[in-house]
Amino acid sequence: MKEYKPPQKSFLYYCGIVLLVMLLLNAFVFPQLFTARVEEVQYGEFLQMVDEGRVSQVEVDEHEIVFADTATPTGYYKTGRMEDPGLARQLYEAGITQYGTPIVQQVSPLASMLISWVLPLLLFMLLGRVLMSSLAKRAGGGAGNFMSFGKSNAKVYVQSTDGIRFADVAGEDEAKELLTEIVDFLHNPKKYAEIGARIPRGALLVGPPGTGKTLLAKAVAGEANVPFFSMSGSEFVEMFVGMGAAKVRDLFKQANEKAPCIVFIDEIDTIGKKRDGAGGIGGNDEREQTLNQLLTEMDGFDGTKGVILLAATNRPESLDPALLRPGRFDRRIPVELPDLQGREEILKVHAKKVKIGPNVEFGPIARAAAGASGAELANMINEAALRAVRDGRKAVTQNDLMESVEVVIAGYQKKNKILSNKEKLIVSYHEIGHALVAALQEGSAPVSKITIIPRTSGALGYTMQVEKEEQNLMSKAQIENKIATLTGGRVAEDLVFHSVTTGASNDIEQATKLARSMVTRFGMSDFGMMALETVSNAYLGGDASLACSPETAALVDKKVEEVIRTQYQKAEQLLAGHMRELHALAKHLYEHETITGEEFMQLMEHPPLLGEGAAE
Ligand code: ADP
Ligand code: MG
Ligand code: ZN
Repeated sequence: MKEYKPPQKSFLYYCGIVLLVMLLLNAFVFPQLFTARVEEVQYGEFLQMVDEGRVSQVEVDEHEIVFADTATPTGYYKTGRMEDPGLARQLYEAGITQYGTPIVQQVSPLASMLISWVLPLLLFMLLGRVLMSSLAKRAGGGAGNFMSFGKSNAKVYVQSTDGIRFADVAGEDEAKELLTEIVDFLHNPKKYAEIGARIPRGALLVGPPGTGKTLLAKAVAGEANVPFFSMSGSEFVEMFVGMGAAKVRDLFKQANEKAPCIVFIDEIDTIGKKRDGAGGIGGNDEREQTLNQLLTEMDGFDGTKGVILLAATNRPESLDPALLRPGRFDRRIPVELPDLQGREEILKVHAKKVKIGPNVEFGPIARAAAGASGAELANMINEAALRAVRDGRKAVTQNDLMESVEVVIAGYQKKNKILSNKEKLIVSYHEIGHALVAALQEGSAPVSKITIIPRTSGALGYTMQVEKEEQNLMSKAQIENKIATLTGGRVAEDLVFHSVTTGASNDIEQATKLARSMVTRFGMSDFGMMALETVSNAYLGGDASLACSPETAALVDKKVEEVIRTQYQKAEQLLAGHMRELHALAKHLYEHETITGEEFMQLMEHPPLLGEGAAE
């Protein structure tokens, strides 16, 4: 992509400023340049000089008389004017006939105006400008140049050979299909006009972070072969009220001139947040003005001309409803987290950029990376390549990829051992507790790996479960099983050591979240199908907030506690009935630090007999 940049201030511009300053200095410090030297003499002396014939020219005005000396043509004299009726006669006799016209060519009127008016004005402007730009820079205000407000710095992306195309965006087939229509319209607007189909004016790409929204928009630019104006919402937010609005105006002006074209506003939620009308002091005003300007411009432009608006956001619920009205961003393009097939495709797209060894299968990697976004998958490939380089290999192996999935999910392995043996043993039992509870229940995802190698993320160990198939729906029983599995770690610690540790904090958090959702959102308690929570930021982790009376809230808390307690007891029963397996597997994990899924199944089915006291 090529970027269009506004031209820099020319060298001449700075020369001009320097020249001005020099002129000004001259005017004040060396006034002779502009005004001739005039020497003051006594009136008597003047008369005497007239008599002696030394005066060539005389200028008489209201208060003074200026005259020139024949001997020194550049020097002038002046004297005060007296009520002297004889002067005219005396001058006439001396042969001086001209005495009305000014003789001293002082500064020309133009030059004098320049000096007295224009120059100070320019100086002030210059000063103001320097001040403003240094102010703007200190405040970190993007442009840094005050005078350039009103000019937007919208970047124009023009299609180029190294541009991103739809082929670079894996998965996201629905989104691509919808965008293809827009591209097609830009290529061939007549086809649509003939049938009378109206292409939507604006399309809003919504989805969680890292799913390829920005990438898709760039791909549209690559495919469409029309000018592409791209700007991020945060670039509109300026220090001065009105500048954001000016940028919007300018962006659309540019776009109208270049139609057909695409205007893309990334992270539109920065300017498109709901207006609350309160408009506190400063701050909000600017954002609202910018948004209002955007709405006005969207209504203003001619849809048939072929200016198409694209925008991306990961908080669609916070957008002002006015933006989503028909005729504005009336088409919503969901860009969701990739499914199993999508993940595999994304891995393959990014794998093209690195050397992949033979026999590498992406299927299992994609399965293990359930829930990962496109950006995370791209990161995994890169991590795998880095790992291969670190280990001095020429190509990426299956193992590198698998390890990189764990790195992205759980953080890097911590090299220096920080666990004491006692801690290691506790962690072993904790993790086997999770794995055993999962394996002993129907319908849990199979365990694929258990490890007690600490991660930089803070996890001391973890149990990886990979679903056999992509799962979109969860039954009540499955959620309950999952909660039981989460409590399994703590249960094992309690059963074996009769004391509990802080290691279960993350499990507790997850279990509580699941149990609460069961009660408040999934209608899986005796509250029935009653929504007790509203979820905001669906794409950013989903913050839930209670939407019920305080009395109900207290009941909800009680229900949540009940659900977790029931599952804890279930896990306790399961593990208590399989102590032999628990001891055997924990010992194995303690010794080997990692157990694969197959090893785990084998040991579970044929646990070796261990003597008493294996735990210590
Ligand atoms: P978003 O704007 O949705 O937050 P981006 O478009 O910035 O996400 O994606 C970040 C990076 O992740 C991209 O540059 C690309 O390398 C990778 N990526 C995300 N989704 C995909 C996808 N569907 N196909 C290929 N790469 C992807
Ligand atoms: Mg983005
Ligand atoms: Zn745990």
